[in-house]
Amino acid sequence: MTSFLPASFFEQLRTLVGHDHVHTEGDLSLWEQDWRGLAQGKALAVVSPASTSEVAAVVKLCAEAKAQGAAISIVPQGGNTGLVLGSIPDGSGTQVVLSLRRMQTIRGIDPHNLSMTVDAGCILQNLQEAAKSAGLLFPLSLAAQGSCVIGGNLATNAGGTQVVRYGNARELCIGLEVVLADGRIWNGLSGLRKDNTGYDLRNLIIGSEGTLGIITGATLKLYPQPAARACAWLATPSLHHAVELLALSQKHLASGLTGFEAMEQAALQLVEKHMPQLRMPIAPTTAEVFVLLEYSDDESETRAQSRLESLLEAAFEAGVLTDGAVAQSLDQSQRMWDIREHIPLAQAQEGVHLKHDISVTSSSIPAFVERAKAQLQESHPDARVINFGHLGDGNLHFNVQAPLGADPKAFVKELAQPIQAIIYDTVAFFGGSFSAEHGVGTLKPAELLHYKDPVALSLMRSIKQALDPHSLLNPNAVLPPAADAQAGEAA
Ligand SMILES: Cc1cc2nc3c(=O)[nH]c(=O)nc-3n(C[C@H](O)[C@H](O)[C@H](O)COP(=O)(O)OP(=O)(O)OC[C@H]3O[C@@H](n4cnc5c(N)ncnc54)[C@H](O)[C@@H]3O)c2cc1C
Repeated sequence: MTSFLPASFFEQLRTLVGHDHVHTEGDLSLWEQDWRGLAQGKALAVVSPASTSEVAAVVKLCAEAKAQGAAISIVPQGGNTGLVLGSIPDGSGTQVVLSLRRMQTIRGIDPHNLSMTVDAGCILQNLQEAAKSAGLLFPLSLAAQGSCVIGGNLATNAGGTQVVRYGNARELCIGLEVVLADGRIWNGLSGLRKDNTGYDLRNLIIGSEGTLGIITGATLKLYPQPAARACAWLATPSLHHAVELLALSQKHLASGLTGFEAMEQAALQLVEKHMPQLRMPIAPTTAEVFVLLEYSDDESETRAQSRLESLLEAAFEAGVLTDGAVAQSLDQSQRMWDIREHIPLAQAQEGVHLKHDISVTSSSIPAFVERAKAQLQESHPDARVINFGHLGDGNLHFNVQAPLGADPKAFVKELAQPIQAIIYDTVAFFGGSFSAEHGVGTLKPAELLHYKDPVALSLMRSIKQALDPHSLLNPNAVLPPAADAQAGEAA
């Protein structure tokens, strides 16, 4: 393989998508750097097509260049908010960043079928607003929703804050349009709720992080807007009690339970420290664990408040709550969500830290946290655990911050590997996942090789080989051949 690129390559790219939509020099950090500032790559070019056919033409051109011996590959990019370095190029200068952000058309809303068909580059928040304007709800919701786009959400199978009721991005998608590694377009757009005609290609592409195909369009599920939403901020003595509260909430509120977030005291204290303007409904020092619970009611505000209050009565009676505040307005509810969503930002202000986006069954959460903390305490007694997350889905952001007074960068550099091993081994002990909602990207392929079932890995390799035999699409992400080779040498 040589690095030969046809002389006319960039000119052809410009002909395909327009001169202004191919960038090869200048400040490309918007596309080359990840959201957290952990890494910056070097792109061969940043290309922004405006339509599915333009995406297909760009992929075809790159595939042909590769077939002629060029060292070239493609990294699809949406909003570039991913947290596992899957959306930026490596440092080789051979990767084309294919940005979907110009593709922002809402192709249609079908209110009777409760579905909407959209371009992959639509910003998530714009889709929520479009659904709302049609009197409907698109429930996918995450703190990055003002920047991330639906193609990226589907490529990562994003979770977020409403999974307990509506599921992950996967459950919200009923059709896909995808450009394959050879430039063919698979039109799987469909509003069908039932279609058992062969293998489920849609679900293969969802969550594949740009390694099997480039999502250019999607048909999404919509829901009726709930008549009312009510939020409560609840103090519990321990994670064990928070899990009891979850079970009680599911029993009392059934499918009306739309959010169940847990935050340990230390996480809220970081928010208090860095964002003192965000007023806590209950002082963080008064309990070990706080829960932000959201209930949606199909009938009325009054019914929402009364159902929430009767849940709280039952929870106090059962001894799982020590204090609680019910939001009296949408504004108060939003302020509760703001506190929850500022935890990652407060962590960032405190300094670089180790993120662990893990999941175990909800029932195992207290035992997992107890064991992981005990093991960390033994080997790194001063490290600070900042633990919060989507408890309703068994998904915790079990993050570790440098000891007070220590240099965060040095801490992360020196201890990332041993601390991650402690946490991921504990996750594995409980049969959990080392990446609940952020994916594998180029940050965690080693963990994938270490923790994933070998048969699953072998099936994944076969699928990649079948759909992208020349490794054109995001070759460093998820299951890179190089990581495989290293594992083979080590074995
Ligand atoms: C503040 C903050 C909060 C967050 N909260 C959550 C959360 O609650 N839940 C959660 O799940 N995630 C969360 N994330 C992570 C991130 O927002 C999600 O992973 C999101 O789905 C990524 O979308 P994106 O458009 O930014 O994709 P990008 O970051 O651009 O890409 C992510 C991956 O998808 C691939 N990709 C992008 N577009 C396409 C496409 N059209 N076709 C094929 N592959 C593609 C990329 O190659 C890359 O591998 C958060 C991030 C931030 C910064």
